[in-house]
Amino acid sequence: MTSLFDATVAAQYQNDPLGMRVYTSQLLGQEKSLVLHGGGNTSVTIDNTLYVNGSGWNLNTIEKGGFSPVNLDVLLEMATRESLSDTQMVAEQRAAMSDQSFPNPSIEAILHAIIPFTFVDHTHADAVVTLTNTPNGKGLIHKLYGDNMLIVDYVKPGFDLAKHIYQITRTIDWESLTGMVLMHHGVFTFDNDAKHSYEKMIGIVTVAEEYLSKQVTLPCGDCEGKGDPIIAQAVGIEVAKLCGCDLFPLLIDSPRAQLFSILPNLETLVKKGGLTPEHVIRIKPFPAIIDNDIAEGIAKFAQEYKDYFNTNASSVHFCLDLAPRYAVIKGVGIVVLGKDEKESRIIGDIVKQTITAILSAEQLGGWGSLTLAQMFEMEYWEPEQAKLKKT
Ligand SMILES: [Zn+2]
Repeated sequence: MTSLFDATVAAQYQNDPLGMRVYTSQLLGQEKSLVLHGGGNTSVTIDNTLYVNGSGWNLNTIEKGGFSPVNLDVLLEMATRESLSDTQMVAEQRAAMSDQSFPNPSIEAILHAIIPFTFVDHTHADAVVTLTNTPNGKGLIHKLYGDNMLIVDYVKPGFDLAKHIYQITRTIDWESLTGMVLMHHGVFTFDNDAKHSYEKMIGIVTVAEEYLSKQVTLPCGDCEGKGDPIIAQAVGIEVAKLCGCDLFPLLIDSPRAQLFSILPNLETLVKKGGLTPEHVIRIKPFPAIIDNDIAEGIAKFAQEYKDYFNTNASSVHFCLDLAPRYAVIKGVGIVVLGKDEKESRIIGDIVKQTITAILSAEQLGGWGSLTLAQMFEMEYWEPEQAKLKKT
């Protein structure tokens, strides 16, 4: 991955740190393999105010109006609490904003506040996260980045993650760190200079990409195959019966998707978590798998989703719809099942990156990300549900 930083363009933001924050955030947002459809977030601290991504803003299109101004001291105090529900966290973050006309601050705002640098960049970089989703992920990250990379075990994003990082970094020398890798989740970089923070991210991702390119060989992921789009329509009709809604099914039948569809361990593999936790909101914890009979495959998904809900739910949860967001058709590829073209394209992007990560990790010893219980705590997380409703 190459740096897109252009000193000539950046010169106009020399005395405008928020303008510079917008500029390098958009550079990160241009790389689909760093952030996808709302993933990732960035911040800049100016005069004791943390300007952090507002919920619902994508990095590729963010403007100054997308950075919510939050009192830094309030966020730092919140990090010291013993416990806090994420709903309460969202409310308190909102109350700490100096201007209520801005959107809700990112659910990772407290985590940004803890990091003692002017600029903080956070992505869900595919290449790095893929490495963390392998059996020796932690060892591999340490081998590639050395002792100065802080490696953090998986904790659900939100207050719990911020508190965990606050606790493990209380005596740490932040100046000695080159970055922070969150297992099964993403990467943080930080610096008092926007360019350095951005380019540290590009550097970290490049190391992972180069490692993957040496170790992994995959067939084309963007080429079209020879699958008949009729099959996508047939799957769409069957799923529409289940949800009582209109769907816009799209077929992904690249050689890579076809390879994925015939993996001998497909059934167990798709239940070992997604690429990064928040994708579950878009694509559910696992897909439908269709062998020969479409109706049978969709009905099996509905039953498995009910079982997943019943195993993990408490009395406060209400079961979401039973329709899969994508279906793997053995020997053919994948059908994505958004409610309109826009949603199907979003799901398609996420699914393509997910299968690339899974196929890559399988060549590195085996795919393994979150458990179904961990997926459930993301999928049924009240603030995330609210975020999805908004977008
Ligand atoms: Zn994240």
